[in-house]
Amino acid sequence: MRATRALIHLDVFRGNIRIVRNRVGPARRLCVPVKADGYGHGAVPMARTALEEGAAFLAVATVGEGEQLREAGITAPILLLSIPIPEEIPELIANKLTPLVGDGDFIRSLAAVVKGDPLPVHLKVDTGMGRVGCPPASAAEMAALIAGLRSLKLEGVATHLAVSDSLEPDAVRYTKEQLARFSGAVSDIRKAGIDPGIVHAANTGAVAFHEDAFFDMVRPGILLYGYAPEGAETVLPVKPVMELVSRIVFIKQVKKGETVSYGRTWTADRDTTIATIPVGYGDGLPRRLSGNFSVRINGGVYPLAGRICMDQCMVDLGQNNLGPSTAFKENGAIRRWDTVTIFGGDAPSAADVAAKLGTISYEITCGINKRVPRVYT
Ligand SMILES: *Cc1c(COP(=O)(O)O)cnc(C)c1O
Repeated sequence: MRATRALIHLDVFRGNIRIVRNRVGPARRLCVPVKADGYGHGAVPMARTALEEGAAFLAVATVGEGEQLREAGITAPILLLSIPIPEEIPELIANKLTPLVGDGDFIRSLAAVVKGDPLPVHLKVDTGMGRVGCPPASAAEMAALIAGLRSLKLEGVATHLAVSDSLEPDAVRYTKEQLARFSGAVSDIRKAGIDPGIVHAANTGAVAFHEDAFFDMVRPGILLYGYAPEGAETVLPVKPVMELVSRIVFIKQVKKGETVSYGRTWTADRDTTIATIPVGYGDGLPRRLSGNFSVRINGGVYPLAGRICMDQCMVDLGQNNLGPSTAFKENGAIRRWDTVTIFGGDAPSAADVAAKLGTISYEITCGINKRVPRVYT
């Protein structure tokens, strides 16, 4: 029943998936990343919806995230994108996760633990992300190592792109170089007489800008949650899935010269009306937005007054809204208990919020924490 909630529009998510499928064509498989609790949207509902829309794979970052999906009854293949520590390997195997592997030590320690059916793995090639994976020159050797182990099965080969979401000439050139190295590694594997299986590389940026990265499967994350890279908005008219809303819980009059919130950074420059909203940095609304943020109420735009607190923030409704504090309706515009949209919906999106802070939409949606109920619509 909490006022502050993240509305998750599953119909919008479905629409975004269809937009991506149209873009990449029906022959390509879709892998839907649901790491970090589905980019903050809730891993299990997003995973279920993605599978209903025909996703072939899900992807997570941690073994625990994969286990959560299995416990919810999800049986689809789940790629494990990040490297677990040795202690997590039994749980990885028990949950039938599909790890991305890229080094001999890890491959051998996995193989030593698998009993029964061979465990499918995907070989990760580091073509220039500089994070994990084998160098392109040793891809064939790694593939041969996997192929030679009875307990493992090479099911796919993957790489990850560092600047695919940028149309800057340097970034485009770098992405083409990464893709050339990747194609070279895949062809080395084939030349060694080994079937690379499902070849995949495309994250959001590549789905937007690099058709030569589509291969057999694509893995866009943030695009499916509704944020296209700059310059791709018309080709990929996805919409934000998350809408963060709250309610006005208190309204009062403030006289010119009075201050609002910690640090007294905000002083009323005229008599005005202040509304209190029960959302703060304790919910994941970044405190650095203080002094640089507005919310939407009944179609109007109202700036925050003073610092964002842990659990609350205040909004300046302006002079036109002067009225009694408990039944506020001067102007007929805004009353106590009215809904406030913080981002998404008819308000600017999480990407716009992120831009104010010099960060990315991912950090904003992932940052909305557990205290905020997700309400699926
Ligand atoms: C997170 C991740 C993706 C998805 O990235 P987006 O930028 O959200 O599209 C794809 N592949 C790997 C390996 C990842 O870690």
